[in-house]
Amino acid sequence: MVNGEMRINETFLSLQGEGHFTGTPAFFLRLSGCNLQCPFCDTNHKSFTEMSEDEIVQEASRHKPRHIVITGGEPALQLTSSLVDKLHEAGFFIQVETNGSLPLPEGIDWVTCSPKGTPCPSLKERGYPHELKVLYMGDGTDPIKSLPLGGDLEEALGAGVRLFLQPLDTGNAERNHIILRDTIAYVMQHPKWSLSLQTHKLLGIK
Ligand code: SF4
Repeated sequence: MVNGEMRINETFLSLQGEGHFTGTPAFFLRLSGCNLQCPFCDTNHKSFTEMSEDEIVQEASRHKPRHIVITGGEPALQLTSSLVDKLHEAGFFIQVETNGSLPLPEGIDWVTCSPKGTPCPSLKERGYPHELKVLYMGDGTDPIKSLPLGGDLEEALGAGVRLFLQPLDTGNAERNHIILRDTIAYVMQHPKWSLSLQTHKLLGIK
């Protein structure tokens, strides 16, 4: 990687499909590469082109939305404080989607953490994210057990963390239907959670 350049898998304009900001127009910056290898990963994040931070800000600024979603792969592998500062200077609200296993730069406006069941440093000690988005496999596992909260759930909720439970997309319509049914049942029984759907897939958009 050339000094100051980042490996970009893709950029695109769309609606945020999941979690708290569902429906929000946003510029998406997908960084290449991940430190995990989840068996259910449905993201093609390995290919890349290189862009400088200034080129990224310039490209994002060509569009009207001032909400940027930095995703991956795992964005913490590449995201720098200087890109965060440059995007803020350009007027962006910065949302980062992370698996929570690596530290992020300071000053991110909204951190969406989606733990992937791997050993992960305590989120309490590093500062809670704004939302936790947990994939539900519908296998009867209590999703709270997969959360690296380092404290109890009440404390995290008191700190303002929002909890989203999202049915896993298995690629099999019949299986997905069962998982969705089970996810709704879990949320109804545990109302501190909210349902998150991949609405971009339902809408047929990226
Ligand atoms: S953390 Fe996300 S991007 Fe990385 S392998 Fe797992 S599902 Fe894929």
